[in-house]
Amino acid sequence: MAKGWCTEIGNDVCDDAIQVFGGMGFVEETGIAQLFRDARIITIYEGTTGIQGNDLISRKILREKGETLRELIVDLRETCRLLCDEDLLRPIGLVLSDMVDALASATDWVLANGRESLTAVLAGAVPFLHMLGNLVGGWQLARTALAAQRQLAAKQGDTVYLNSLIDLAAFYMTTFGVQVVAQAKTVCETGVALEPFPLDGF
Ligand SMILES: Cc1cc2nc3c(=O)[nH]c(=O)nc-3n(C[C@H](O)[C@H](O)[C@H](O)COP(=O)(O)OP(=O)(O)OC[C@H]3O[C@@H](n4cnc5c(N)ncnc54)[C@H](O)[C@@H]3O)c2cc1C
Repeated sequence: MAKGWCTEIGNDVCDDAIQVFGGMGFVEETGIAQLFRDARIITIYEGTTGIQGNDLISRKILREKGETLRELIVDLRETCRLLCDEDLLRPIGLVLSDMVDALASATDWVLANGRESLTAVLAGAVPFLHMLGNLVGGWQLARTALAAQRQLAAKQGDTVYLNSLIDLAAFYMTTFGVQVVAQAKTVCETGVALEPFPLDGF
């Protein structure tokens, strides 16, 4: 997941950087076009994103019947509880909680169908990789917000900086976090959506 998701996000970041600079981003002067070209290979070599997704589902999740993922979900729910105990952080905790519910239901679906309908499950492997990456990335930001809140409560550190960490986590939850719920649906429904396409139709 660290390889698969981070390399995909690296491409998104370069893409955004070009957009921020407009036409100057597209031409060579800023150097970003070169960074984008360089980043484009990282989702391909050392395991393409498609293969990383298949590996995550097959060799990591199905093989051990989701054991590690279940442990992760316990940790995620504990962070949700800590966030919801703090008035300022409760909105972050509520979105994270929805994300964890989505992960849990997608995981149940993968485990329930992995044996009988592996093709349908693997059709959702890349969406699963993105879903889990977006969730875990948000989780780390939420944990940062918790640490910042503790420092603010103890009247330690730079108040502006610490508040900006909380704002960043809240921004992420509103913009990216909510996508996890839709991605979990995609995980479970892509296989069915592909069924009408026979191989000889390609
Ligand atoms: C610049 C560069 C440097 C490289 N350096 C090295 C090196 O040092 N050592 C080395 O060993 N290799 C190296 N490679 C090779 C690299 O590891 C392969 O290009 C990479 O593994 C992808 O394999 P492929 O190109 O055959 O693509 P393919 O396997 O043909 O894949 C094409 C597309 O189909 C998808 N796909 C294929 N099979 C499946 C499947 N079962 N399920 C879902 N999707 C699938 C892939 O995700 C990909 O998007 C390098 C490649 C490049 C371009």
